[in-house]
Amino acid sequence: MASQELIKKLEETIENFPDFPIPGIQFKDISPVFLDPKLYEDVIADLVAFSKGKVDAVCGIESRGYLFGIAIAVALEVPFILIRKKGKLPPPIVSEKYDLEYGSAEIETREGQIKKGQRILIHDDLLATGGTTEAVARLVEKQGATVSQFSFLIGLKDLNGEEKLKPFNAEVYHILEY
Ligand code: AMP
Repeated sequence: MASQELIKKLEETIENFPDFPIPGIQFKDISPVFLDPKLYEDVIADLVAFSKGKVDAVCGIESRGYLFGIAIAVALEVPFILIRKKGKLPPPIVSEKYDLEYGSAEIETREGQIKKGQRILIHDDLLATGGTTEAVARLVEKQGATVSQFSFLIGLKDLNGEEKLKPFNAEVYHILEY
């Protein structure tokens, strides 16, 4: 869906840092996107076009998922729901645990913000192993809502994150793939 021009511009802008924060990781730094307001606007327009008319709310994943997620929700004129890391939100909350390479983590959201029957877009900056996104999708379904779409700026192909999202039968979109 994204134009070749947008893909090329993003490729030139996003910086790759090998072996950061630990050996073996190719860290993608999206911060230069925010130095270019026109590029930011074009990224939002592309992500909005993917979701227009298809979702009732956007769930953004802490923290880089907020940087684009809120702008997408505002443009779509739908609510934005913060998915936070454990321990940041006052009760009552709903939460979901997931496994990391070593140990486990937990994501949380305020109870009642995801409404039964809503069609949800789950958004993050980057899909790696898919562990975080999958946990958010389980949390959404636990609230009686439907995961309709997933969107990312970047998908890391070799890590097979999309496999984890298949059971949700939702559309998956990323502007760039590495
Ligand atoms: P995962 O649960 O493995 O799909 O990890 C996704 C989360 O980790 C996203 O919120 C990303 O912001 C972050 N992340 C994972 N791998 C990278 C990477 N290579 N470069 C930048 N961010 C990453």
